[in-house]
Amino acid sequence: MAKSLIILGPPGAGKGTQAVRIAERVGVQHISTGDLLRDSVSKGTELGKKAEGFMNQGLLVPDDIILGMISNKLNETFAPGWILDGFPRTVVQAEALSGLLKEKEIELDHVILIDVDSEILVKRLTGRRVCADCGAIYNIEVMEKDTQKCVKCGGQLITRDDDREETVRRRLEVYNELTAPVLDYYSKTDELLMSIDGARAIDEITLEIMKGLS
Ligand code: AMP
Repeated sequence: MAKSLIILGPPGAGKGTQAVRIAERVGVQHISTGDLLRDSVSKGTELGKKAEGFMNQGLLVPDDIILGMISNKLNETFAPGWILDGFPRTVVQAEALSGLLKEKEIELDHVILIDVDSEILVKRLTGRRVCADCGAIYNIEVMEKDTQKCVKCGGQLITRDDDREETVRRRLEVYNELTAPVLDYYSKTDELLMSIDGARAIDEITLEIMKGLS
């Protein structure tokens, strides 16, 4: 049966990593607004040009831009379902998503929150490196010293502009101010929220999410 899932959490909580694993295990499409935006930025599209400044400053891209982008994406076929990664990030986006799903007669199955303490996140994000070619994610804390190439494809490892410390702190503030209320929205309206402690090993977190979904 098709599944509709949302995965949320502060920047650096590991939602991207978990979303890829859950998508694979459940057999749904992985839709990440962050990835869609980065793709538009690297291709230099109109949307990318509008979004880039906000992203580099650690701010949210305005709701109307995000909603246009995601409704196009959700208009593609629903089967076999999807996991939305990093969307909705404001209550306005959550309300718009509820409207879109109602029109399509799709019910949300679960909202997964990966929760991690802010200071751990700052450490994780400023140490994060991504492969410029395939997007694989690494961290200097657990990487061999002086590694500069991606183990998977040989691409160059880079620091995302929005992973610099000042920007990371701003992203966390934005999360607390604008995205935390989205969690209340889902816990109040539908009791769909599943909260997972994200300060643990990646495999343990995946296991707990999969248990919660079954
Ligand atoms: P992420 O990869 O999910 O951390 O997203 C990277 C950046 O893209 C965020 O810091 C925002 O600037 C932007 N972004 C991604 N998703 C959204 C969204 N749902 N609403 C607004 N901005 C977003």
